[in-house]
Amino acid sequence: MDSEKTIIGQCPLCGGNVVKTLKGYACENSFGDQPSCSFFLFSTIGNRRISDAEAGEFLSKKKILLDGFATKEGKCFTSILLFNPDGSVNMTSQIGTCPKCGGTLYVGSRSVSCNNFKHPENPCKFTIWRNTSGHDFSLEELEALISSGATATPVPTYDNQGNCQQHRFGFNDNKEIIRL
Ligand SMILES: [Zn+2]
Ligand SMILES: [Zn+2]
Repeated sequence: MDSEKTIIGQCPLCGGNVVKTLKGYACENSFGDQPSCSFFLFSTIGNRRISDAEAGEFLSKKKILLDGFATKEGKCFTSILLFNPDGSVNMTSQIGTCPKCGGTLYVGSRSVSCNNFKHPENPCKFTIWRNTSGHDFSLEELEALISSGATATPVPTYDNQGNCQQHRFGFNDNKEIIRL
């Protein structure tokens, strides 16, 4: 029987095809007697299974925001996966600089919040709910909000009565999320 390889995406190191293997996703150029590449992405990261679709998105966008990772102690966490220059995976929950106080923003399962939220003198209440007006923000939208103060494209948003309107998102003067 002929065997066929399942191509998941392109290798971030050499541009070759990344194929699904027993334990994860490997660059085709890592096979054989004289491999020219060593890229391999494990299909389990942070005690979480990565789906083929997620691996494909990660390979094409070079970063992905995922929920449901777990520490050895079983504590759940959210993380952004990035590639290190050597092709290994870097996990971070830092997503940018707080537009209100300049602190560091962290992404969690429900919101983005500022590391100064418990600051003794000047607590920072800056928050972006990951679901706002019925819309689930993508990583790209969160980054656009944080860095440029608004999302790029209108998306369907909903009010309490179920009315749907297309809006972009931005901030008011208090750096609270509003529909533009
Ligand atoms: Zn490669
Ligand atoms: Zn802040």
